[in-house]
Amino acid sequence: MKVVTIIGARPQFIKSAPVSIALQNLGIEEFTIHTGQHYDPEMSDVFFEEMRLPQPGARLDCGNLDHTLMVGKMLLELSPILAREQPDYVLVYGDTNSTLAGALAATKMMIPLVHVEAGLRSFNMDMPEEMNRILTDRMSSVLFTPTNAADQNLQNEGFGTFPVKIAQVGDVMFDALHSFLPQSSYHPSMGEPHIFSTPFVLATMHRFENVNDPHRLKQLVQELNNVHYNVMPVWMPVHPSTAKKLTEHGLVLKVHQGPPVGYLQMLWALEHCAFVLTDSGGLQKEAFFMKRPCITLRDETEWVELIEIGANELFTSKDTNLAKALERMASKEINYTFAGYGSGNAALKIAEILLKGSI
Ligand code: UDP
Repeated sequence: MKVVTIIGARPQFIKSAPVSIALQNLGIEEFTIHTGQHYDPEMSDVFFEEMRLPQPGARLDCGNLDHTLMVGKMLLELSPILAREQPDYVLVYGDTNSTLAGALAATKMMIPLVHVEAGLRSFNMDMPEEMNRILTDRMSSVLFTPTNAADQNLQNEGFGTFPVKIAQVGDVMFDALHSFLPQSSYHPSMGEPHIFSTPFVLATMHRFENVNDPHRLKQLVQELNNVHYNVMPVWMPVHPSTAKKLTEHGLVLKVHQGPPVGYLQMLWALEHCAFVLTDSGGLQKEAFFMKRPCITLRDETEWVELIEIGANELFTSKDTNLAKALERMASKEINYTFAGYGSGNAALKIAEILLKGSI
């Protein structure tokens, strides 16, 4: 059996790591295509090195383009590779432009499409990711969902009547965290070690609705600066898109900051932090896995179960006073026993189901 995996953005490198190992262990041949959506070494190469990902069989150069052009260029470049490789399945992850382009290419070429992290919805169609998820799910032959909520979303959209296989396997990010946590490590690029010697907030921010709207970005910068000075120091590895927008709008983030870090450094920061503030999908769950309270800087989240159990709270575009929200959250008793993300063997289940050809 042969699978072509199409990845291109940071979270996809992380999600693919445990799956690649499982495919390999079951003797499934994998050919990886890196679309080049993320191309900075700290957004791409570092994951291949640290997580020992299989080197891509093909590397496209589709980064740094407007969304439409990016998806178009990916499609053009993916098609001849898929025609040459003739896989049994095309495997895509999550909700990025690489996911959508991979899905379109596979579907147009009649190759069965497999979507890992299927069924997630924010119900906000202004999010580019929401469109990518819905379209990719609809084109897929096999949907691997991470949670009950994702299953329910698919049922609500009528997927139960479509000719598609759906299997809830758990969350591959849970697998990744468990495999790599023992290797977590500090790196000097994170900043001076003393920054991490007292309780601190680990913060990340990169989502379109937060960084592309100058008013929202300004508000969040003020809120983060206020938390840093008045509640607890904040450390933020700054996403390249955010850095660009901060410069463009002359906004000054006064928190401890640095370039994006590798996954092993992120895990180290998660182990040592007291709190997480983020608009990242992945980091919300990692905060939960590591039993760190999290505030999500968005109007909604796909990981609704974390809100339900109280491990995560939203700080929406209508909310003010992040510092107060953080203090309130920090004094809360959180029950971390929820087991709805599986038991860390999602990747193995995915590989087994693909090999067996049935669910
Ligand atoms: N991450 C990382 N280095 C960083 C920031 C994030 O390795 O500097 C990891 C983070 O721990 C999580 C993943 O990247 O595993 C999340 O990716 P991102 O926030 O870019 O995307 P999203 O999860 O929102 O799709």
